[in-house]
Amino acid sequence: MTRKDTLREYRSKRSFDRTPEPSGKTRGRGGRARFVVHEHEATSLHYDFRLEAAGVLKSWAVPKGPSTDPREKRLAMRTEDHPVAYADFEGVIPEGEYGAGAVIVWDAGGYDNLTEDRDGRQVPVDDAVERGHVTVRLHGEKLSGGYALTRMRSGERERWLLVKTADDDADARRDPVRTQRKSVRSGRTVDEVAAEEASSRR
Ligand code: MN
Repeated sequence: MTRKDTLREYRSKRSFDRTPEPSGKTRGRGGRARFVVHEHEATSLHYDFRLEAAGVLKSWAVPKGPSTDPREKRLAMRTEDHPVAYADFEGVIPEGEYGAGAVIVWDAGGYDNLTEDRDGRQVPVDDAVERGHVTVRLHGEKLSGGYALTRMRSGERERWLLVKTADDDADARRDPVRTQRKSVRSGRTVDEVAAEEASSRR
């Protein structure tokens, strides 16, 4: 089976002899599809929202991070597909490299694809991304329940909106981006990861 290499842009932006990020030589394995949200303290702080689909991580950069309030529409800029191994990446991308700065696994877990076409048939997530609308149910530690991603503008930099579905998991009083800062993988904040890396280089 030949598959379009959707990781070409990812690889072209990075020098794998310098960055600790995965090169993505191995594709995704079977099992339940995962989602991950990375907190990334690059030039400007943002949250990278990623859904495992078709052997890669479909990705968006969300400047304000995901909300648990269905009235909050969060801008999500589409970014290049990442390797599935990136879901476990936490560390510091060195100065001078693409996306330089600290990264933590802010939330992660399985997800269900709820995207359907007009006839009620499920649309695979990679097709749904191309069509410009994806609905998922997240099973994370901080984020749970339905989320919808909708493309607002196509082109070189696709602009999408990430919105919480009004369901039992919606809660306008929560604000996990502000109140739950620690990595679900290591318990560290993004600032702690940056500081540890700086001190280990001394
Ligand atoms: Mn990023």
